[in-house]
Amino acid sequence: MRPLVIGSVAYDSVETPFGHATDLLGGSATYFSLASALFSPARIVAVVGHDFRSTDTQLFQSRGIDVSGLEQLPGKTFRWGGKYHTNMNIRDTLFTELNVFAEFVPKLSDEHRNAKFVFLANIAPKLQLEVLQQVTAPRFVACDTMNFWINGPQRQDLITLLAKVDCLIINDEEAELLTGVPGVVRAANLILKAGPSIVIIKRGEHGALVFSENDVFYVPAYPLESVIDPTGAGDTFAGGIMGYLAGIGDVSPRTLRQATVVGSLLASFCVEDFGIGALLRVDAEAIAARYRRMAEIVQFEPLPL
Ligand code: AMP
Repeated sequence: MRPLVIGSVAYDSVETPFGHATDLLGGSATYFSLASALFSPARIVAVVGHDFRSTDTQLFQSRGIDVSGLEQLPGKTFRWGGKYHTNMNIRDTLFTELNVFAEFVPKLSDEHRNAKFVFLANIAPKLQLEVLQQVTAPRFVACDTMNFWINGPQRQDLITLLAKVDCLIINDEEAELLTGVPGVVRAANLILKAGPSIVIIKRGEHGALVFSENDVFYVPAYPLESVIDPTGAGDTFAGGIMGYLAGIGDVSPRTLRQATVVGSLLASFCVEDFGIGALLRVDAEAIAARYRRMAEIVQFEPLPL
């Protein structure tokens, strides 16, 4: 099966302690689908402007990604600018220009309406809801969001959305912001009461925690000596999870654990270069090697008691 993703397709300008780059192909749906394609190529629902480069469309197609739902409208493509501090866990958003997204009304084709695995990547909650309402009988719906939407006028749409999804993937600060409580465990338990049966809390270089009613699972981040550009790591993580689940066609706790390990290691590739650069170089062998290493990292014996 192939996941359906609604999210941003963007041109990003990024500054990190290692340099800066402008008009990089980015956006939540871009990182998601490039990661997912390593297991199961996604179908993108998004909008771009007249300035969108045809080579970027071809790049998606070369990975088997379905771009029939990528609309092109007059106007400019979504643009986002971010600057990372020396401590790259800290990022300032320099600008967010919605451009063509401000007018976008997604309309799903029959094939897209039949999607079973749906990811509502970070974009306006109103758009996330509009897409979800058009999917006939989804089997597993996950979503992401960020402070821009949690604090914004669409907060109520976000709360409505939460009641309709199976899984929320969110970072630790956003989980605290969303719930108003400190501490990820308390925040996750509150979110579980608001709708989703699974909450995945991303903690950057400290990995991620997967909460469900009867289970907690921890996946570390793959230890790296150098991080060049963390942009898109969260969407890559989600793309790995959803691509793996949809590829196997199963959402059992065991498969979900494997999927989160896959998501975490794909994110580790993503941050090793600017933009999507490193993600494009990943292959099955590199994934398998990091997966084996992750298993060794968390392996430990029971106490002899
Ligand atoms: P991440 O580093 O995982 O938070 O994702 C960064 C990506 O999200 C960038 O490529 C941006 O283009 C995109 N992005 C940033 N802000 C927004 C927003 N408000 N809505 C949708 N996408 C965004």
